[in-house]
Amino acid sequence: MDNLIILGTGIAGCTAAIYAARANLNPLVISGPEDGGQLTLTTEVENFPGFPEGIKGPELVQLCKKQAERFGAKFENDLVSEFNPIKNGYELKLASGKNLQTKSVIIATGASAKWLGLPSEKKYQGRGVSACATCDGAFYKGKEVIVIGGGDSAMEESLFLTKFASKITIIHRKDSFRASKIMQQRVLANGKIKVLWNKGVTAFLGVEKVSGVKLKDTVTGKESDFTTDGVFVAIGHKPNSDRFKGIELDKKGYIVRKEIPDEQGLLKFRSATSVPGVFVGGDVHDYRYKQAITAAAYGTMAALDADKWLMEEGD
Ligand code: NAP
Repeated sequence: MDNLIILGTGIAGCTAAIYAARANLNPLVISGPEDGGQLTLTTEVENFPGFPEGIKGPELVQLCKKQAERFGAKFENDLVSEFNPIKNGYELKLASGKNLQTKSVIIATGASAKWLGLPSEKKYQGRGVSACATCDGAFYKGKEVIVIGGGDSAMEESLFLTKFASKITIIHRKDSFRASKIMQQRVLANGKIKVLWNKGVTAFLGVEKVSGVKLKDTVTGKESDFTTDGVFVAIGHKPNSDRFKGIELDKKGYIVRKEIPDEQGLLKFRSATSVPGVFVGGDVHDYRYKQAITAAAYGTMAALDADKWLMEEGD
């Protein structure tokens, strides 16, 4: 039986693997369908401490993986299809047909940005189409961008982009936002932000890079083209928690992270879940910060908690 299996090879899972491997837990890390996580979809990461010139997202996560391997972590490409408690641990059924048994688990399966699902969307990801203004906004200094969506994420992304872009156009499929009133007020009061109501994006246009979008009016059906330097899709995120039905999820599907005190009432575990021995780190529970550095920090906490839990369970 393994000591610890980490699910997810994004920055949270890889950081958990570094800490767990350095604690001699010999962790096995299972990658899932998006090996490397959301960082593999970004270009330059300029806000991760220690890289004054920035670093490419895929490179950052690759280096993190290499660092974990240096201390003995093993990585496998597979997918957990079932997760069942057994005596003294958990059994994980993998898509490859393998069954693994482990004493503890860290779930770091992340979240995936929701995309429009248009055929041309994948082609332009990293070429002017992004789902993260914090990651990519600084590349649009003095440029005109659009933000798609009408929730708090779209408001937040638009306001963030006002630091860089000369003009932001929010494209929303309805005639009102679902975002909180205060966020709407800030957006509507900002002179750099304009809104195109009742418009759906039906295609991305461009040659090497995106240069515009095709719009369809959701009321009249009229089609038009709109020129832009960049597109931010901000229609929400979906936590990758579908396979963990035995574990408490909140109403949006995020894993509920629990803080467990010790006998003196002092904090013992910060990354526990509703199931003993199963810990969580990163965007699969974090709907608030969603940054590479916070995911790494949550991964660290999960590894330290798993180590402490294994020691207490008599490993
Ligand atoms: P959300 O509230 O689910 O909003 C998603 C928006 O995207 C909606 O306006 C929706 O349109 C639109 N949308 C969804 N699918 C679409 C599609 N295929 N094509 C075009 N538009 C589409 O998601 P969110 O904005 O990410 O917020 C998620 C949660 O996090 C919320 O509870 C939010 O309050 C919270 N949050 C809070 C903050 C903050 O307080 N600072 C920041 C970010 C997020 P419809 O309105 O037409 O359905």
